[in-house]
Amino acid sequence: MAITVKTLPRPEAESSYVRATLKGMALTFQHLFAKKWTMQYPEQKAAPDWQLSKRWRGTHRMAVDETGKSKCVACGLCPQVCPANCIKLVAGEDEKGNRYPLVYEIDEFRCVFCGYCQEVCPEEAIHVGVHYENAEYAREGFVYDLARLTRQSHEVSSLWDPADPRGE
Ligand code: SF4
Ligand code: SF4
Repeated sequence: MAITVKTLPRPEAESSYVRATLKGMALTFQHLFAKKWTMQYPEQKAAPDWQLSKRWRGTHRMAVDETGKSKCVACGLCPQVCPANCIKLVAGEDEKGNRYPLVYEIDEFRCVFCGYCQEVCPEEAIHVGVHYENAEYAREGFVYDLARLTRQSHEVSSLWDPADPRGE
């Protein structure tokens, strides 16, 4: 594609900026009376016409069974599929041959919140959650161990559903 130069002629007569200024002021005043979109975070976290999507993929949460034990059976699928390599799993086995996680940690700082761990889990144990307030003062604070993951109580993400691509 050829590059062309467009020459704009200078205005002949002296122009006044009053009209442009008035136009700008009118626009400003118009916004004074328009609907406010600012939210007073952190006191206010949702509004009737704005809330976090149910598909939001945030802080993880580990599901527990009726006895309060983690549902994870240490199958190893989630660390295998994790693209950020941020899940640490050390599997153990009880006297009946049932596998369970001796160590299960997720580094939320390295996680890219793809949700693959939730999708692949055969026990529906690990979930990404509808939660984002996980700031920390030190990097170590982002490594969530099993106890911390099971303590999380926020809503879990519903992820993307091919039957409902727009999430309505
Ligand atoms: S959400 Fe993705 S990146 Fe994060 S722990 Fe799960 S699989 Fe790994
Ligand atoms: S995929 Fe589920 S059951 Fe398997 S190790 Fe991960 S959390 Fe545990």
